[in-house]
Amino acid sequence: MSMTKIAAAKIVCKTLIAAAVLLFSGCERQMHAQSEFVLGTVCSINLYEAGSAELYGTLFARLRQLNDTFNNYSDSSEITRVNQNAAVAPVEVSQDFFIVLKTALDFARLTGGAFDPTVGPLVKLWGFGKTPRVPSQEEIEAAQKLVGWQCVILEGFTDQEAAAPTVRFTKSGVRLDLGAIAKGYAADCLVDILRERGVQRASISLGGNVYVYGKKRDGSLWSVAIRNPEKPGQNSFMLKTQDATIVTSGAYERFFEQDGKIYGHIFDPATGFPADSGLASVTIVSKTSMVADALSTSLFVLGLEKIPAIKKSALAGNFECVCVDTSGTAYASKGLKNSLSALNGQKIVWF
Ligand code: ADP
Ligand code: MG
Repeated sequence: MSMTKIAAAKIVCKTLIAAAVLLFSGCERQMHAQSEFVLGTVCSINLYEAGSAELYGTLFARLRQLNDTFNNYSDSSEITRVNQNAAVAPVEVSQDFFIVLKTALDFARLTGGAFDPTVGPLVKLWGFGKTPRVPSQEEIEAAQKLVGWQCVILEGFTDQEAAAPTVRFTKSGVRLDLGAIAKGYAADCLVDILRERGVQRASISLGGNVYVYGKKRDGSLWSVAIRNPEKPGQNSFMLKTQDATIVTSGAYERFFEQDGKIYGHIFDPATGFPADSGLASVTIVSKTSMVADALSTSLFVLGLEKIPAIKKSALAGNFECVCVDTSGTAYASKGLKNSLSALNGQKIVWF
């Protein structure tokens, strides 16, 4: 499917063209895999020989619980309750909410606001989730005035304090959107359960946000295919790995086209427009899916040149990445040299 062929103002479901694809071989193929539409996407879990109905039930119940926490499109979710009340008085939040918002605010600080969990007014204005459209400059500027992570005050929840953590906004109209990080956190939560249960191996894909846990039964590494967004329908890279998360952000996953121009769902808060850093996709490979999720969105906004600075930060931890620019050139970090290979004639520039 070519991006230019997509009809005007049509949102493309990312699940059709998920960026990272798990590849299975032989009898491991469909054994026990289960999928459910939750967190706004198709979530699939394969527990292989540990695949009992009870454990799948526990894992999907956890995903549903996180959906009730972070779903911006539900009137009864925790995030909606926060968005509706935090400008009036501090709102008590759950531990899940605290952890994710705390990390999101840390990333906002690290990236100078390129990653901003208060991007909600822009997401709403541009119509993502409903009817997308290009707003007027005045509308964009008005929405931008409501975007600012410094307007969010998160308090409490240290080991010493019994009190529940609270969130308040210093301005009315602030609207949190944790869509850039919540799926990553959800993957980590599933892995926590797998560890507690002593599960040996599992593969998780939350709408293309992949976690490969443990070793395959024959001891070999997992194969994860990564697409080049500039070559639709083709897998361009193959990653061999284990105990890793592979998370991609790209404009091609969710976008609309108007007057021949593509508008993606990741915004640059500095311009109020979809991010335009020259990158078509950023794939992060690391151990923590929440951090990988925040990083993929951050680097997509910041662009290639800012990666070395971000790599130095303790918050980002150890990570590797594969970035494809809008001309189709792929750049991969040297730490992937032994695990990433190119397919279909794709060239990789190592950095
Ligand atoms: P996806 O959720 O499609 O896998 P991302 O993790 O990159 O992709 O998250 C994109 C989502 O994050 C958007 O749909 C929006 O809700 C939110 N978002 C958009 N721009 C930003 C930004 N600059 N900082 C933080 N969140 C953003
Ligand atoms: Mg993300």
